[in-house]
Order: sequence, then C-alpha cells, then structure tokens
Amino acid sequence: MGTEPTPLELRGGRVWDGVADAAAEQSVFTADGTVAERPAEGAHILDVSGCTTVPGLIEAHTHLCFNAGEDWREVYDADTPAQMLLRMAGAARRMVEAGITTVRDLGAPTDLAVELRNSINQGLVAGPNLLVAGAPITPTGGHCWFMGGEADGIDGVKVAVRERKKAGADWIKVMASGGNMTPGTNVFAAQFSVEELRAIVAEAHRLEMKVTAHAHGVEGIKAAVEAPVDMIEHCSFQTPEGSLKDDAVILDIARRGIGVSPTIHRGFGRYRGQPRWDMRADVTKSLIGAGCKVLMSTDSGIPNAPHEDLAQALAVTQELADLSPIETMKLATSTSADHLDLPDRGVIAPGKRADLLVVEGDPTEDIEALQRVRAVVLAGDVVYQSA
Ligand SMILES: [Zn+2]
Repeated sequence: MGTEPTPLELRGGRVWDGVADAAAEQSVFTADGTVAERPAEGAHILDVSGCTTVPGLIEAHTHLCFNAGEDWREVYDADTPAQMLLRMAGAARRMVEAGITTVRDLGAPTDLAVELRNSINQGLVAGPNLLVAGAPITPTGGHCWFMGGEADGIDGVKVAVRERKKAGADWIKVMASGGNMTPGTNVFAAQFSVEELRAIVAEAHRLEMKVTAHAHGVEGIKAAVEAPVDMIEHCSFQTPEGSLKDDAVILDIARRGIGVSPTIHRGFGRYRGQPRWDMRADVTKSLIGAGCKVLMSTDSGIPNAPHEDLAQALAVTQELADLSPIETMKLATSTSADHLDLPDRGVIAPGKRADLLVVEGDPTEDIEALQRVRAVVLAGDVVYQSA
C-alpha cells in the first residue's frame, strides 16, 4: 500500500447507511480512504444500478486458524506454523471478498494472529481489518489450551495479560467456562475464580485493553458478570438439561453494560423446530429485550461455520431473534462498531472509513441480498468486484 486509494463515486444505486429506517437512492463518494460529502476530482465511477451499498460487515468472533470442518482438530494439530498462517490468510481473504471488512479473531496462536493483522495492514496480503486476541487465557488443560494460552492463579493470569500486550494483541480473551470442543473441560462449570477474572480485567484495563469472556454455562457467565468483564461470548446459559436462561443474570448484564456476542452461525439453522433452537431463540430475544449490548458474531471456523458465511448467519439470526432485516443488519454494522469501540466505521457518513459492501437487490427488504456481493471497498480501495 502506501499509495492513496483513487477517489470513488458509487453511482445509480441505493444506500443503507447503517442506522436509517430505510435505504435511499443516493450516490456514495470516497476520498483518502474515507466517505466524502461530494465527488472528488478524477473520481473513479462505479455503476451500482440495481444494487444497494451498506457499511462493510463486522464479524466479532472468528477463528481464522480453524478450517470449519468436522476434522478441525486433526488439521489444527497437523499444521506447521507456516501452513497455519497461510490457512489463516486464505480465510481472511475469503472474508473480505464476502464483504466482511472488520473481523475480531478470538483465538489463534498469538504470534500468527498478530503477524497476519500486521501483514494485512501493510498490504502484503488481502484481508479485512483485524482485531486479534491471540491465544485465549485458559487454565492448565482448559478450553482451547492447545492454542498456547495456559495460565493459573492471580499472578499467572496477570503475566498472561502482560504477554499479550507485549505481543501486540488488541483484545484479551479469557475462557471463563469449559467448551464443547475441548475434551476434558466442563462446559457447565466456571474455569477461573472471580478473583482470577478480576485480576485479568484490572490488568487489561490498566494496559488499555478490553476483556471478553467465553462462557456457555451459567456458572461461567455468573463469574464473568461478577468480575465484571467487558463482553461475554456465547452467553448461551447451558445446563446439563439444555439452555436455561436466568433472567436475574440477564438484567445484571444489561445494568452493568456488558456486551454480549451470541455466536450464531449459519449451521445453527439445522436446529429449526428443535428444543435447542427454541431455547436459543428465547435467550437471544431476552438479551435484546433487556437492553443488553448485543452484537453479531458467529464463531466462524468451527464445524459448519465457514468464515465467509456471515450473511447467511445474519439470515439465521433474523429468524431466530424475530427481527427485521434492518434490525439484524445493525447488529453487524453500527451496533457492533459501537460495542467494539470502533467509532470510525459501521455507518456510511462523511469522515467514516470507506468500508463498503455493494450487493445486488435491497437487503433492507430481503436480507438474503447480502449474499449477492457485487463489490467490496476497504478503506477506499476496491478489493473485490464480481465478474
Ligand atoms: Zn470461539
């Protein structure tokens, strides 16, 4: 990179700006990588008739290092670091070509995640703007220990936070409960004491980083709320009997302003009509209804959750949470930008980053239109155009 992107004029289409109640017919102008009020001299004109331009999508929870297949763990274990980095770069490229312009990676070997983010920023490889957590902090043998993030006790977890800051991570991820994907961990139990979680949060905040906690089971969620962390991943209220939401805990999450990243991926659609779907729908609607800071995330990279399928996951989320297309799209644009502290994006307005997704049709009427990608603009650069 280093060269300024050519100014653009996206002409002849509709625009949904990330916050409005409807799309409007209007042109979009860019200059110096940001959205501009009027066309710049020598602007390159893109004819977007029949299309709608929306803010580039934001994915708040991915694992670029997983292959989205049932054999994910064998592949992960067999990869050399060089192979894994190339796998991550491939996934990052597919994501940006699907219109996902900002991605938070919440679990990968720390050095690889930081290296990929920096390489994308330097223009060495194509990909979205990345925010990375590196290896999640987990107790010895805890959920995702194989990523290299084991730490125990108050002193141990403080060191782990400092190591991530030193390595250049953007967020701290902590595994507050066990996970379904790591044999030998307990999804229903807390993995860290409230004191350990408090130490992580205090150390991270001192270093101006935010903490998000993986928590499926109620006990892990309660410990994360008590700490309190900045955000909770999954927040599915799992118990051995299924999902059992706790309204008092949900109110506490809302009252403390803790973000919630519910990780609903396209593969979740296969549970339609089953108790698992109904319980997850109930939890998601309750979180939104209580005023919790819910954003869009998918946990992409795990089985049945291809990295590039955020648009498909949004269609599932719309159905699951009984939302309108616009309410659903806000979760992956303006709302997620707010909750991830990224005030420069998530809406199309003068001065904001020119991260744009151009799709055929109008996703404010039919959210499936998000799957028909015509062009993607990243910080003013056209990084993808369909044939
Ligand atoms: Zn995850």
